[in-house]
Amino acid sequence: MLRVLVTSQTHESIFPMSPFVIAPPPQAVVPTTDGGLFPVRRIFCVGRNYAAHTREMGGDPSREAPFFFTKPADAVVTGDASCPYPPATASLHHEIELVIAIGKGGTDIPVEQALAHVYGYAVGIDLTRRDLQDEAKQARRPWDMAKGFDASAPISAIRPAAGIASANSGSIRLMVNSDLRQNGDLSDMIWNNAEIINYLSGLVTLAAGDLIFTGTPDGVAAINRGDRLVGDIAGIGHLTTIVC
Ligand code: MN
Repeated sequence: MLRVLVTSQTHESIFPMSPFVIAPPPQAVVPTTDGGLFPVRRIFCVGRNYAAHTREMGGDPSREAPFFFTKPADAVVTGDASCPYPPATASLHHEIELVIAIGKGGTDIPVEQALAHVYGYAVGIDLTRRDLQDEAKQARRPWDMAKGFDASAPISAIRPAAGIASANSGSIRLMVNSDLRQNGDLSDMIWNNAEIINYLSGLVTLAAGDLIFTGTPDGVAAINRGDRLVGDIAGIGHLTTIVC
């Protein structure tokens, strides 16, 4: 048994006999549609995975290898809570995305076995400080501060895969107030769910608790304080958040 004498009175009073020198951070979680909690380990995001969105961002939608960026696990915003408008931007953009929740980890997971590693799916919004991203692209700098800021990953409850007919096709839409801003289909993804898991598991060892945002259809645009975002993916779920 691990026994550590904690001398900090403040910490000892919070966590008696704890080896931690500060209070450990709370576990980020996403509710599931059947009443459970999914613990979040990491958040990976696929860039440019719909041809029309790739074109609107000035890219070439040829089938190049997928690329990835990340957000902190505690960037999730759950339960249709509101999202604070982040600092240091004048161009906050929405990107509606299907999210894969990994239930079983692995390395070099074959495409044919990939979906057996999925716990479930959710609706997410990859909030993006587009002005910071544009500056980073220009300067060939990392995207972290454009993508991985606080509360940058609102997400719906996770629906277990067992109850989903197909997460490879179906409508994916985002309304901002009364405007239909994004209106695509999951079948338009350049890399499908199994291919994304296959590719990403060749770059890192995937683990239970990982979330993968799978890219956004076209129609991304700026949002402002007071805007109400409603996202839905057929057969997966709904997400509402207000920017405040
Ligand atoms: Mn995205």
